Amino acid sequence: MFKRPAVAPAQPVVVAIDGPAGSGKSSVAKQTARELGYGYLDTGAAYRALAWHALEHRADTSDAAAVLDVAGDFDYSISLDPDAYWVRVGATDVTDAIREPRVTDAVSGVARVPPVRESVNALFRSLVARSGRPGVVVEGRDITTVVAPDAPVRILLTAAPEVRAARRSAELTSHDAAAVADALHRRDASDSKVVDFLTAAPGVTVVDSTHLDFDQTVAAVLDVVRGALGEASGPREGESA
Ligand code: C5P
Repeated sequence: MFKRPAVAPAQPVVVAIDGPAGSGKSSVAKQTARELGYGYLDTGAAYRALAWHALEHRADTSDAAAVLDVAGDFDYSISLDPDAYWVRVGATDVTDAIREPRVTDAVSGVARVPPVRESVNALFRSLVARSGRPGVVVEGRDITTVVAPDAPVRILLTAAPEVRAARRSAELTSHDAAAVADALHRRDASDSKVVDFLTAAPGVTVVDSTHLDFDQTVAAVLDVVRGALGEASGPREGESA
């Protein structure tokens, strides 16, 4: 007979990163995960995939009852590998489809429905627990406050609104900058009625990327992680161990 282990296997360390659209959150979180050898969980993808699923069923995404109705057969899966990212609904790969403007326009309606939030939050916690990784960088809007309020590392990644709009329109080269800025601010306004991701909750460290490039932002986030996890607390120069 096998003996039971004396202690339960350790739960993965959660690095929680919240922030608004265009803050650089997704790419920064993904790179941070690579550097740490952690998994990467994009929580917005679940809301986007549910919005896609609702649109496929021709449901009215502004109607909570209609959203809950289609949520019943929502078969969602996502990769936590920062180097092999994919999102599926059933057997369909929706990795690209969930970034289409029609989905982005519909997603806030879906994310507003409380039972939807409760069930995706339970899913996020279970994906982290089953990740098989030493840690997972989880990014979204309410990770530091609702999904993982006890995470040892909690960061709010911000940037000035005009910088966020400029970054987002650079990503979407075919869209005109003013329209992108407008859509982004409308989505932020709508999302911030559901969760406040523009101010840091107590104990959450703000990383402002307004004047930082990508590498500098990743370095700033890694500094916060190492500080919080104690890896930076070894003896300083001139100090004895
Ligand atoms: O981060 P991303 O832009 O992909 O998120 C898409 C949408 O999902 C957001 O606009 C928001 O409505 C919703 N969301 C949320 N809570 C999260 C992550 C995303 O409400 N933790």
